[in-house]
Amino acid sequence: MVSPERSSPLTDVTVVIRGARIASISSNARARTAGSSGTAVQIINGRGLYLAPGLIDSHVHSGGVPGMTVADERAHPDLARVAREQIPRSYLYFGFTTLVDLDARPAQTMQWNGYAAHPDVYFCGATPVVDGYPMNWEPKPERYEAWPYMLVQSGEERALPAGIDVAAHTPEAVVSRMKADGMFCVKSFFEPGQDGARNLPVPRLDTMRSLVRAAHLAGMPVFLHAIGSKAQEFAVAAGVDIIAHGMPQWDAQPENVTQLTPHVQQILDRVIEARMGWQPTLQVIYGFRDVHDPEYLSDPTLARVLPAGLIKWYRTAEGQSFRERLAQGLPKGAAAAWNAVRANSAAPIARNQSAARYLAGRNARILFGTDTPAALIYTNPPGLNGWLEMRRLVAGGLTAHQVFVAATLTNATALGLAGEIGTVEEGKRANLILLRQDPTLTVQAYDEIVKVVIRGKVIERAELAARR
Ligand SMILES: [Zn+2]
Repeated sequence: MVSPERSSPLTDVTVVIRGARIASISSNARARTAGSSGTAVQIINGRGLYLAPGLIDSHVHSGGVPGMTVADERAHPDLARVAREQIPRSYLYFGFTTLVDLDARPAQTMQWNGYAAHPDVYFCGATPVVDGYPMNWEPKPERYEAWPYMLVQSGEERALPAGIDVAAHTPEAVVSRMKADGMFCVKSFFEPGQDGARNLPVPRLDTMRSLVRAAHLAGMPVFLHAIGSKAQEFAVAAGVDIIAHGMPQWDAQPENVTQLTPHVQQILDRVIEARMGWQPTLQVIYGFRDVHDPEYLSDPTLARVLPAGLIKWYRTAEGQSFRERLAQGLPKGAAAAWNAVRANSAAPIARNQSAARYLAGRNARILFGTDTPAALIYTNPPGLNGWLEMRRLVAGGLTAHQVFVAATLTNATALGLAGEIGTVEEGKRANLILLRQDPTLTVQAYDEIVKVVIRGKVIERAELAARR
């Protein structure tokens, strides 16, 4: 048994699960069936295997099908239905038994819970400022209806489009509405824009502090999308709980600077000091790059997590339309675009790695999160993307042990869920994985999962694959 609060694996152990919880853990094999008279007992022989807590991805978006717009789903309902049934299974396939969705609408909870096998999901409400990121991607005036927890900053009421009830969009009002809708956490954004004009409206410090205060009074952690150094400086000043991305963008620095500057280091030191959660999300940048890779859709690994029909659809003109939008400004022709995007993304990737390596070396509160599937790209597939993120983290300087702790206990603690999940302990939820290798030694172990246990229900890994 490997559990993040233990310094070494526990051997010759019997773990009894009753219902959805871990009833007992003992080193006495004869305790195995004690107290179970009259009820059917399923015994799993784990000899030579490793039992670990199920993994937590604290940054996903579970509402859509990767790469499909609402209109695409409407045009291809069968494809979308099969994909939606597979997505929860793909997360389980790579060991993820808990997800945090950082931008949810109330109806999603019901839909997700309707699937036969699915990870537990905690939902966050998203609070962009009026016309800020990411609501700027949607046409007006529809966007004002699409973001129920949109923030109106004090003093900016008069410039609003007609029909917005200002009183319903104060920090206090959106938090109390989220709470009533069953939301678990609050997500906000400090994003002036990543390309072209960087002039999107962003929250002011007083607005963010009010949001944090209201959220904490309601017992909800606050995540902030902040990918630039200026944005993370703002996150520290506002006292948010979790920075939802790494730091690929260093403001006021030449593009080719990838070694930590004193200023960036200072901001990261303040992140460490504040014990703020920090999600490197290294893989998501590769996802935005790899969508231009002409070979990407031929990777056989994809067929393990995505239905064959969906992969086929990605090759169609409809399936390629978002990639084409991203390719505007890149050289024409697949090979030329791919070369250019690789060159363009090298510096942001290196900067993000530098920041992650610095924090990992100083025992910062690194949280495991992937931002799957990210916008409308299909190159951050459910489940698989988590495993890729782990490999990126190790390449970026984390140990397999640090990755394991980030994806279990540190995530659970930062979310206030350490009493329920994150370790293998008596009384906790029976969300477990059984692996052929020790996950504290190698992240390859997560592709060597044998069985997944979700709330006490045991599932063979092979049954969770898209191609089975
Ligand atoms: Zn996200």
